[in-house]
Amino acid sequence: MDAQETVADFLDTHDLHTDPAYRLLDLTAEVGELAADATASTDYGASPAEIDLSRDELGDALFALLALAEETDTDADAALAESLAKYDARIDSEGSPGSGD
Ligand SMILES: [Mg+2]
Repeated sequence: MDAQETVADFLDTHDLHTDPAYRLLDLTAEVGELAADATASTDYGASPAEIDLSRDELGDALFALLALAEETDTDADAALAESLAKYDARIDSEGSPGSGD
């Protein structure tokens, strides 16, 4: 069973399906908690090598992202594969995976 299926089963088992907008807000909040970890551990970015992100918060953010994928009927593995192919193409053509925007 892949990670998205595990999250889907959890949502089913605990009757936690909800509106995608809520899932997006939850994801944003969890990413914010990671940012708080980064802010605290790096002294507001002054010591980037000291970054210390909580595994618990990474897990929360991953759950929220996969729950959002589930609620929007998005295949997370397919979406990731498409993104990696896009980055590969950019690296080949522009030397960097970033969009440059
Ligand atoms: Mg959290």
